[in-house]
Amino acid sequence: MKNNKFIIFGFLGFAVVLLGIQLSSHPLIESRMYTCGECRLHRDSRRIFSVVISNSTIETKCSSWYKSQYGNDHKHVWILAPLIQYKNINGDGKASITLSKGESLWALSSDEQLQYLKNSIGQDRSIRLEIIKKLYKATLQDDKEAATSTLIEIKQTLK
Ligand SMILES: [Zn+2]
Repeated sequence: MKNNKFIIFGFLGFAVVLLGIQLSSHPLIESRMYTCGECRLHRDSRRIFSVVISNSTIETKCSSWYKSQYGNDHKHVWILAPLIQYKNINGDGKASITLSKGESLWALSSDEQLQYLKNSIGQDRSIRLEIIKKLYKATLQDDKEAATSTLIEIKQTLK
């Protein structure tokens, strides 16, 4: 009788260890990266089976500069990155899926956006900010034509 219990618990323990190994290597965690269209603060939203388990914001050079210039009272407009990554418990990326939405604004890096806004020294910054807003609105509405022409307009001033 004592031996049977030992065998059963031995099997259960073995199964738990196997399951743990399997789960730790399996890409269960979905990582979605967002950027704020206006200040380019990043947000990493992680989910397991569609349940949000963490939301962390990541400062960029642009978001720090934006805060110092315009303050911190705007409502962030989150735009999803064109790539969703799947990670295991150790945080290693195992797989990803590519989306078409979000590409327009993400095609302009936060460093480029910072440079674009900084280049307006001596001019009215609000005009440049309005053009950035035009780009993220076109991205949100999936208006590819407006997004492409605005992106070209911005990129040309960076050369
Ligand atoms: Zn923002």
